[in-house]
Amino acid sequence: MKSLVWKIGLFIVLIFSIAYASQAMDKGRPYYEQKGYVLWDVETEEKVIALTFDDGPHATYTTQILDLLAQYDAKATFFVIGKHVEKMPEIILKMGQEGHEIANHTYTHLYKVTPEKLKDELKKTNEIIHDITGSYPLYYRPVGGSYDDNIINTAVESGYRVVMWSWHQDTQDWRTPGVDKIVSKVLSGAKPGNIVLFHDAGGDRSQTVKALEEILPELQKQGYKFVTISELLEITSMSLKK
Ligand SMILES: [Zn+2]
Repeated sequence: MKSLVWKIGLFIVLIFSIAYASQAMDKGRPYYEQKGYVLWDVETEEKVIALTFDDGPHATYTTQILDLLAQYDAKATFFVIGKHVEKMPEIILKMGQEGHEIANHTYTHLYKVTPEKLKDELKKTNEIIHDITGSYPLYYRPVGGSYDDNIINTAVESGYRVVMWSWHQDTQDWRTPGVDKIVSKVLSGAKPGNIVLFHDAGGDRSQTVKALEEILPELQKQGYKFVTISELLEITSMSLKK
């Protein structure tokens, strides 16, 4: 009986050690959210939504999206890939001039990076964007949305805030699920302070464009205003913590 008690005791200690070790490896959302290092969405009663577009720019789709956004006086944030930016500086210039926010999505879009490589990719893209627009991006979104402590620490040390998206606002448009699916995903879950994830490049994005043709007027009709990440943070007083 005594040995059984010991075994149970040891088992409990073991479980707690494992739990502690895994926590130490990845600090998780509450920690990073509270520190202001990572943003998923914000709490607000103001009817504002941040539309975000990854992987661009793309000569056709990004241009079509910019035209649509202008039509609805909507501002968005583009997480661009440095090597694409180099080929299409005029689109980045247009984005900036039209009031959109340009953010960093690395230089080559690698899924696995060492901290050194990430630092290098961020810096390179940073300089390319600055050369075109005259300002440095404030936000970075990890490739594939995958992050760990190393990635977050590297980004924060490089002066970035990591921006993810509202988990219920992942349109999965890169899978080309059909216009209706993209539209209903966004509209059914739309809440003030949401950050919506779209892709304006990396494949055929005609569904994304078509979906926006429905999403923009409908949310506008509901009283929503489309803002950049910086505007979203300003409105909700969650501006970049240094
Ligand atoms: Zn991406």
